[in-house]
Formats: sequence, C-alpha cells, structure tokens
Amino acid sequence: MPERLSPLPHQTLVMKFGGTSVGSARAMENVIQIVRQARAEWPRVAVITSALAGVTNLLLESAAQSARGETSQLPEAEQTLLANHQTIATSLIADESRRAAVMEEIGGLVRSFVELCHAISVLGEATPRALDAVASLGERMSVRLLAAVLESAGIPSKFIEATELIVTDNHFQSAHPDFGLTTERTRHVLLPLLEQGFTPVITGFLGATRDGLVTTLGRGGSDYSAGIIGAVLPADDVWIWTDVDGVMTADPRLVPQAQTLPQISYSEIAELAYFGAKVLHPKTIRPVVEAGIGLRICNTFNPAHPGTRLVSNGKAENPLPGEKVIKAVTAIRRQKLVTIEGRGMLGVPGVAARAFAAVASTGTSVPLITQASSEQSICFSIPSEACHAVLSALEKTFASELAQRDIDRVWATEDVSIITVVGHGTRHTPGVAGQIFTQLGQAGINVLAIAHGSSDVSISMVVESTETETAVKALHKLIVS
Ligand code: ADP
Ligand code: ASP
Ligand code: MG
Repeated sequence: MPERLSPLPHQTLVMKFGGTSVGSARAMENVIQIVRQARAEWPRVAVITSALAGVTNLLLESAAQSARGETSQLPEAEQTLLANHQTIATSLIADESRRAAVMEEIGGLVRSFVELCHAISVLGEATPRALDAVASLGERMSVRLLAAVLESAGIPSKFIEATELIVTDNHFQSAHPDFGLTTERTRHVLLPLLEQGFTPVITGFLGATRDGLVTTLGRGGSDYSAGIIGAVLPADDVWIWTDVDGVMTADPRLVPQAQTLPQISYSEIAELAYFGAKVLHPKTIRPVVEAGIGLRICNTFNPAHPGTRLVSNGKAENPLPGEKVIKAVTAIRRQKLVTIEGRGMLGVPGVAARAFAAVASTGTSVPLITQASSEQSICFSIPSEACHAVLSALEKTFASELAQRDIDRVWATEDVSIITVVGHGTRHTPGVAGQIFTQLGQAGINVLAIAHGSSDVSISMVVESTETETAVKALHKLIVS
C-alpha cells in the first residue's frame, strides 16, 4: 500500500491510553506530560482512554456474581471503585470544587453499577445487553477523571462518551460499527472542539446502537476505538500508549529477553494480534490501514522510547539491518482441538461447510484449521470454554452420519496452546520451517498439529498447554539468542 501523502502533515493526532497508563496517579502524571508535549507539536490532539486498570474485570465479575444471586460483595466492589478514582483525584486535582464535582459524577455511575447488579440478581441472568451497560461504566468514569485531571494541569479538555460518536449494530459485547454514521457523528462532535483547542477525552471500548443502547466492542476494544476514531476524523497518526516499549519479539511477561521491534508491517501485526499478542486489539488495524494513517505503539512509562511504527507490507519486505526473517513469537492459551473423523466422510461434499456452520451457530470463532493428511478427518481449534456447546452442535448436525457410522466420532483434546511464529518470508524462506521444528524437537516438544493458515507471514503450531512457555522460549531463541 502506498504511503499516504498528506498535504497538511502533523495536523491531527489521536492518542489512546490503556488501563495501566491511567491506573495510578503516577501513571496519569505521565499522561499529562505526554498530552502536553503532543499539544506542543500537533495542532489537534484527541485522547481515548480505557477504564482504570482492573476496573472492567471488577465490573464484569460483579455482574456475573450477581447473576448467580451473590450480591454480598457489591459494597466492597463499590468501595474499591470509588477509592481507585478518589486516590487519583486527590493527588492530581488541586481545586476542591472541581474534585468534588468529578467525584460526584463518578459516584453517580458507581450507584448505577450497584443498581444494575441488583437488577441482574433479581432476574437471575446477565444478558449481553446488561453486561455492556455494566462494563461500559469503567470508561465512563475514567474519561471524567482524566478530563478533570488535564484541566487541572491547565490543558483545555472535555470528556466525551463515545455513545455520541460510534454507532454500532446491536451485537452486544462485540459490536460492529457503522462507519458511515460514525464518521458523520464523530466529525460533527469532535471537529468543533478540536478547532477550539480542546483535547477531547473519549471513552474507549464503547459505542451505542442507533437507538442509543450502549454496546461494547469486545475486551481490549479501546485500541479499536482509537483506530475507528482516527480513521473517521481522519487523524494523521494514531498512537497507542501502553505499558511496554511497543510491539516486542514476544510477550515480555513470558520472555524477559524480548526486544522491541522498531517497525512491523500491517500483516505481521495483524497476525500477531490475532494469534494472542494482547498489545494491540486485532480489529484496530483494518480501519487504520484503510484510511492510510500512521500507527505507533509506545510506552507511557518510557515516553522517550520510540516504540514500534507500523509500516506498509512492501516496506517490511526490506528488513532493517540485522533483522531476522522470524520477527516475533506468540501464544494463545486455553484452546481445544476438535476432530471429526470417519471413513464415510471421504469425498462427501459439504461436510466441512456443515461442520463450520454448526460451529458458527454457537457464536464461536475458529482461530486455526489444521492440515489434514487425508479427507478422513477435519480438525480445528476453538476456545476451551466453547467446547461443550461446539461438540453438542456438531453431534446434532451430524446425528445421522454418526448413527450410520459414516462419521466415527467427534471429539476434543485436553487444553492446548497455539504457538505462532510471525515474519514476512517465514513460509517461503528455505530452512525457516526446518529451524522451527528442530528448535522445538531439541526442547522436547511434541507438535500436535500444524496450521493450515492462509497467510504467508506466519506458521502456527499446536502444543500441549503445559509446554506453552517452553515452546515460546525455545522459538524466541531463533530471534534473540
Ligand atoms: P493496555 O491496557 O495498555 O491496552 P494490554 O495489557 O492490553 O495493555 O496490552 C499490553 C500487554 O501486552 C503487555 O503488558 C504485554 O504483557 C502484552 N504482550 C503480549 N504480547 C506482546 C508483544 N509481542 N509485545 C508487547 N507486548 C505484548
Ligand atoms: N476496559 C476494556 C477492557 O478491559 C477495554 C480496554 O481496556 O481496551 O477490556
Ligand atoms: Mg489492551
């Protein structure tokens, strides 16, 4: 894809801050400095923020407990939510009346959290729509706090709920935006504020249906919010501020030797994100690529570090000096391999289509389909928690084939992990696959399956869940030895 030639370079910057980046007063002080610096360099700066670290989990756990009729923990959750926001407000909002006003608003949202949880416990069920109403409260609190903190630091800012900007379908918990309407509304609301010199502070993670019902974009979806808003404004650049120095050769929590990748291509990051690297939500990439805008991932706790720049696929084919073919390794845990097998399947058209339709009917997505040696079996992976529903759906779909023994059985393994090695040329450079399997063999790891993926920038393997860490570390030695 050609680089965008912008007639007005450095005009609009969208920055997204993750949960850890706004999770403490110390972190938020860094955010203030980062926003101040950005405003000195860019005429228009918009900010998207996640909920404070841990808040979304707490909200969703409380809703789940309430659905089981357990509400005794709600007062504690309420106190935790108030205290987390209050601590930051106390250290970073000097003006007493501004602090009281923002805590009053946050207090109101905490009360609606408690009310929603009680309603869920009465119904004995948390519908996806109710879960979105609860989960979205985290960002609705954090934007108020961050906007007030920025104002206190002398930075003109206003909080905005993305229910005003991002219009979605009603697929609660994983809503899909309507880009046409979202473009109209976002420009209508944000452009005047940006022109007046305000830095809008926008809720990540959420949107609303045309009827105004709150939806969320999926866990970790604030990155996607930044991609959407950046694309529709449009911004020149989107910067994702997180808690590590950009996209690294592996998850640094798993592999301490992991190193930052100064650049990564669209297809490489797409593959990494899809196969488990939490550093960027996989949906973020598409709107950004389609709008032809820049994307950078950087560290709130180390802002001087350049982090990672996304570059077009063509550019990534010209590696930087010293760059290896294999760029990164990642893992998705808690998967199961499902196999449908039987001699009667040989040459029967439509078996795969029916199998995947059955899986889709449960709302499960299939990250990987493995290479079958013959037509006698189909094998694919699914998240472990979906296993029960998927096996039931498959048994129902193939009831007559199972009765007639055309299909012998439909079964699932114990938990496994998908390990993915990413890099342009991984598939086509002679010897790379050999190195990968030698490395795993030397580490004593048994490869249960190899992916039959469509992308030529990655190879995926399935291993026993207990071997995840050893496999990732062994493969990482091919990048950093
Ligand atoms: P945020 O709250 O800022 O969105 P996340 O926790 O969602 O942050 O994502 C950042 C985390 O992603 C890092 O702390 C790191 O542990 C994890 N991660 C996994 N794989 C990678 C990778 N290849 N490079 C960088 N970080 C990774
Ligand atoms: N707060 C949301 C979550 O924890 C969205 C995000 O942080 O990206 O999933
Ligand atoms: Mg995230």
